[in-house]
Amino acid sequence: MKAIVISRTGGPEVLEFTDFDAPKPNDDQVLVEVDMAGVNYIDTYYREGVYHSRLPFIPGFEGTGRVIQDPQGLIAEGTKVAWCDAMGSYAQQVCVPRDRLAAVPEGVSPEVAASMLLQGITAHYLTNGVYELKEGDSCLITAGAGGVGLLATQMAASKGVRVYSVVSTDEKAELAFDAGAHEVFRYSDNLAEQVRRHNGGRGVDVVYDGVGKSTFSESLEAVRPRGTVCLFGAASGPVEPFDPQLLNTHGSIYLTRPSIGAWTSEEGEFAKRAQAVTQAIVDGSLRVRVTGTYALADAHLAHQDLQSRATSGSLVLEVPKN
Ligand code: NDP
Repeated sequence: MKAIVISRTGGPEVLEFTDFDAPKPNDDQVLVEVDMAGVNYIDTYYREGVYHSRLPFIPGFEGTGRVIQDPQGLIAEGTKVAWCDAMGSYAQQVCVPRDRLAAVPEGVSPEVAASMLLQGITAHYLTNGVYELKEGDSCLITAGAGGVGLLATQMAASKGVRVYSVVSTDEKAELAFDAGAHEVFRYSDNLAEQVRRHNGGRGVDVVYDGVGKSTFSESLEAVRPRGTVCLFGAASGPVEPFDPQLLNTHGSIYLTRPSIGAWTSEEGEFAKRAQAVTQAIVDGSLRVRVTGTYALADAHLAHQDLQSRATSGSLVLEVPKN
C-alpha cells in the first residue's frame, strides 16, 4: 500500500511517501481503507522524536474511511467510520482499535469526519471534564483559531462562558470572534493584564493553554486564585521546569497536564465524547472548519504550514485509491 513513512525523526522532509506492507488486524482491531486522514499537532511531535515510536513507522492518528475486515465479524464490510487513536493513519489502510471507532452520520463530509474526533474530543474533555465550564465562567484559550482552539471556543461560548482568545493575526482574530470569542488578544508580555482589564479586574476561572513554552507564564498570571491552568499542549515548545511554589504565589492555583488518552480511558468514555461531538456537528451547534486539504504525498507541506503558524482550523490529507 501507499503510505507516509518516517524512517528517521526530524523536520517535515522525513515524511516519505512510499510503499509499505499493509497492516493485519488482531481480534481487537478492525482493518479500514482510509479515505482521508486528519493532521494534528501531535503528529509533528512524533515526527520530531519528542514523542517516541519505533522506526520506521507510519504517523497519523485519525481519519475516515470504510471497513475492509472485522476479524470478529461484527462490523459489515463497507461500513463508513471515523476514528482517532490509531497510529498509522497516513496510509491507504490502517488497523483501528474497535473501541476507537465512531459512526459517520449522514451529511457529514469526509473532510469533517476525518478531523472531528481528535480535536473535537479534546475540546470536549477540556471544557466538560478537566474544568467543567458553567454559565457565567470565564476562560482564556491560547491558539484560539487553531483546530482545538476553534472547537473549544464554540463549546465554551455555547455554555454562556466568557471566552478570551489569543491569536497571532487579524485573520485568525476574525475566526475566533466568529466561533464565539468575546475578546481576542495578541500574544504579549502583558496578556494577563489585558485579560483582567476586560474581566472586571479578575483572573479567569480556567486557562486552556495548548501553546506551552511561550505562553505559560502569562497563563499562570491570567488565572484567578484557586483557578485552573490546563496545559494541554506545547506548540511553541515544552514548558521549562519550575518551582511548584509558583502555584502558591499565584493564589493556590491548580495546574494539570491532561491527555486525550487519560480522558477517554473510562468504560464507554470515548463513545460518549465522540457521540457528543458528532451530535453537535449534526445539529449545527458545532462547526469544524477544515481549512486545508492536502494530497497524502504532500503531508510534508501540511506539517510545514501547521508548524509555521500559517494554518487555522483543521487540516486533512486525501488518500489516493491506488
Ligand atoms: P493548532 O491548529 O492549534 O496549531 C497550533 C497553533 O499554535 C498555531 O496555529 C499557532 O496559532 C499556535 N502557536 C503559538 N506559538 C506557536 C509556535 N511557536 N509554533 C507553532 N505554533 C504556535 O494545532 P492543534 O489544534 O492540532 O493542537 C493545538 C495544541 O493542542 C497542540 O499543542 C497539541 O499538541 C495540543 N493537543 C493536545 C491534546 C491533548 O489531549 N493533550 C490533544 C490534541 C491536541 P497562532 O498563530 O494563533 O499563535
